[in-house]
Parts: sequence; structure tokens; C-alpha cells
Amino acid sequence: MYTKESIEKLKEKINIYDVLDDILELEDEPSYECPFCESEHFLVDQLKDKCYCVDCKFHGDGIAMIMNVQKISFNEAIEILAKYYDFKLEKVAKKERKSVEEILKSVFYSALPSLQDKSKAVREKGLEELEILAIEYEKIKVFKEISDTMLFRRYEALRSI
Ligand SMILES: [Zn+2]
Repeated sequence: MYTKESIEKLKEKINIYDVLDDILELEDEPSYECPFCESEHFLVDQLKDKCYCVDCKFHGDGIAMIMNVQKISFNEAIEILAKYYDFKLEKVAKKERKSVEEILKSVFYSALPSLQDKSKAVREKGLEELEILAIEYEKIKVFKEISDTMLFRRYEALRSI
């Protein structure tokens, strides 16, 4: 996890043409072929550092392009860009990182008991939302790490009812 500030600073350095030409090595310069649908109507807006495909409607900045073309995570994409621009991304301090984990754990702790007496449909929806939340926070790992805790046992119990 990197700090928001350093990600913002990196974003300022990103030039969409560097991404298309050097990093993704897409051809057909200056009019690119869409890497997702092969349309010829792939537009590049250098002012906003964004791409847009008229046909498949893909739109996004350099980071989104790298993520989608190479099928990698946000963090992996910004690491590629940081390397390309010789930029040092700052990692979030351990203490700060832990607090996100704590927040996530507390959400699970408070949400699971409240799902206890709900109907199956409501329970399933709730569990699904919690899982999405865990993935969004990129903390699914944390969730697995605490698999031997009461929290996870309660989660599993609710899942199996
Ligand atoms: Zn397209």
C-alpha cells in the first residue's frame, strides 16, 4: 500500500503517450487500435491523460490502461509506472496500515452478530457485502490471516446455516 500523496505525485508525471508507446507498446501511432475490441476509434486525450474507445466504451487513464491490458492490480500498475518514471512511491506507515485492518475487523465484528437472526436471503446478502468490502480494502489477506479467530468461525457458521 502506497500513500495517497505519492500516488497523486506519480499521476502528475504520467503521460498517456508514454504508457501507450513505451509501456504497453501499442502500435498504430498516432491513431491507436483499441487493445480491447480492436476498434480503430480509440481516442487519446493528452490534456486529460485519458483514453476512450468509441466502440467498446473503455475509458480510463494510464493506470487503468495498464491494469486492463496487462490484467494486473492497481498496485502493480503504479509500480510499473514508478519504475518507468524513476519515481519513489512512499509506502503507508505500518501503523496506518494496521488501522485499516482494525477498521475492517471491527466492521466484521459488528456486522456478523447482527446478521445472526436474519433470514437466509438477508444473511447471504450481508455476508456478500462484507466480502466485497474486504476485497475493496485489499485486505482479503487479513481476513484469511485471522481465519483461526472467533470472527472467522462465526462467519463460517453463518455461511453454513
Ligand atoms: Zn474498444
